[in-house]
Amino acid sequence: MYYPDSIVEEVRAKNDIVDVISSYVKLQKKGSNHFGLCPFHNEKTASFSVNRARQMYHCFGCSKSGNVITFIMEYENYTFPEAVRFLAERAGVTLPEIEYSKEERERDNLKARVLEANKEAGKYYYCQLRAPAGKQAYDYFKNRGLSDETINKFGLGYALTGRNLLYRYLKSKGYDDDILKEMHIFYMNEREGMTDMFWNRAIFPIMDVNHRIIAFGGRVMGKGEPKYLNSPETIVFDKGRNLYGLNHARTSRKDHIILCEGYMDVIALHQHGFDQSVGALGTALTSGYINLLKRYTSKVLLCYDNDPAGTKANLRAIPLLRDAGVSVKVINLSPHKDPDEFLSNLGADEFAKRIENAENAFYYEIRILEQSYELNDPDGRTRFTNEVAKKLLRFEDAIERDNYQEAICAKYNINEDNMRKLMGKMAARGEGIEGYERPRSLTASAKKDPDTGIKKPQKLLLTWLCEEPEIYPSIAKYISPDDFTEEIYRTVAGILFEQIKEDSVNPAGIISRFTNEEEQGEVASLFNTRLEKLNTKAEREKAFKDILIKVKEHGFEMRSKDGDPAEILNSAIENKKILNEIKGLKIEITEKGNDHE
Ligand SMILES: [Zn+2]
Repeated sequence: MYYPDSIVEEVRAKNDIVDVISSYVKLQKKGSNHFGLCPFHNEKTASFSVNRARQMYHCFGCSKSGNVITFIMEYENYTFPEAVRFLAERAGVTLPEIEYSKEERERDNLKARVLEANKEAGKYYYCQLRAPAGKQAYDYFKNRGLSDETINKFGLGYALTGRNLLYRYLKSKGYDDDILKEMHIFYMNEREGMTDMFWNRAIFPIMDVNHRIIAFGGRVMGKGEPKYLNSPETIVFDKGRNLYGLNHARTSRKDHIILCEGYMDVIALHQHGFDQSVGALGTALTSGYINLLKRYTSKVLLCYDNDPAGTKANLRAIPLLRDAGVSVKVINLSPHKDPDEFLSNLGADEFAKRIENAENAFYYEIRILEQSYELNDPDGRTRFTNEVAKKLLRFEDAIERDNYQEAICAKYNINEDNMRKLMGKMAARGEGIEGYERPRSLTASAKKDPDTGIKKPQKLLLTWLCEEPEIYPSIAKYISPDDFTEEIYRTVAGILFEQIKEDSVNPAGIISRFTNEEEQGEVASLFNTRLEKLNTKAEREKAFKDILIKVKEHGFEMRSKDGDPAEILNSAIENKKILNEIKGLKIEITEKGNDHE
């Protein structure tokens, strides 16, 4: 923990959320909310709402919500302490240094020094590219069709041939060996000391979303192996959490992101106006990448190389993205090998058409699958149909699955009834779909959608109590934090109930008691779950009781998973009594609807 809760709360309270967000998003007042275009997903109509009274934001489109601190974290890609420092400075709050442990401070200092040294190295390479000695690399970029503007935008550079030119340069700038070692762009040699990793290579600085240089890639000039050389992971570079070009693509106003393979692909795409492009730099798509992508888009167009390795990468990426709720399409580069080659041969207009005509990822999967079966042979056809059925079963949404089933059956002339029967049989057998949970089972869908099943009533109850704390006294004796099934909900319920008792309900303040981004998102959702629009007092009272009863039931189930059977029986009887009492309860509920809309 970096800062005491009281200081964090002071910083939060002194930064009015409407003022802060207004400097990033154009907001318009409508009723008790301010609305604007959501900065976290692409949209044309404003569904991002900011509420001054609650000091919280909520997007009705992508469900992102939180307080002023989480907004800054999300928007600027800051860590919690970074966001607190940023807002403290904005509001003129002096932060204490006390709760900052020695190790944390040292690590932060080291990171900052390594980033500085990287920046200095980037500058050095940048200057070399523009010096006479860098002509070969400069010509290389020019021959690849890059403008000076693009070369500058990506900070491209050149590493001269020499044993330790960069090393000596950085030493002269005052960096000592401890810092230089952490950059991981020098080789250690007993006899010669530290030598440069990049010789005679065009240099691609790798930047994080805040344009800070975190690593380098180098392409050899002339002959030499390997063609591309990348610096390894460091204290500031986590491969699975960075996408090349995202620092520029994040501000693109397109409704999708193009994911391709290499540096030159990304750069060529940007040069041709496709500033929504990022590169995975040869690393397989990880959950880290997917989370990163999901922050900026809900639609990804895959543009891997047009070769067997690229096809494999597509087939790997599609289910991962789809499972994460990202819509996926595949760009066809044929007859060219990669986007760079495509653009230099066919140009931007032709590429724009390929984007327009990008293939639905499911059709792509089936089309690739088709190639490994002999469809004219009855046996091949049966095996193909089986595989298609398996793939269709992956869709959890029945309507989506039906639509695909219909389309695929029509395309491959498969009898729809037979397909349905086959899928029914497979589903009943729980037929193994490699790497996937059994579709449509309760646990799988509860996991996929955290709002279904057990969690939903708990969220609704907390949202409701937060909005109408005056209900609490009439149910206080029936509900306790222990009734909640998730650790984090129990913590939040504990804080919220205390606040209600003290008449100081402050959901925005509860969010920043948590420093981890995932937890903050979860907590924010506890105060932003949509309540049903109910008109009469009686309807509202019934709905509230139903929610309370569900929470009690689930809490009881959870507690009786393990324990002494006799005790469980006793508490079951007790629980039944409580549920009956709740059913007969008179709850002081207001007639007002909620102002969530
Ligand atoms: Zn949104």
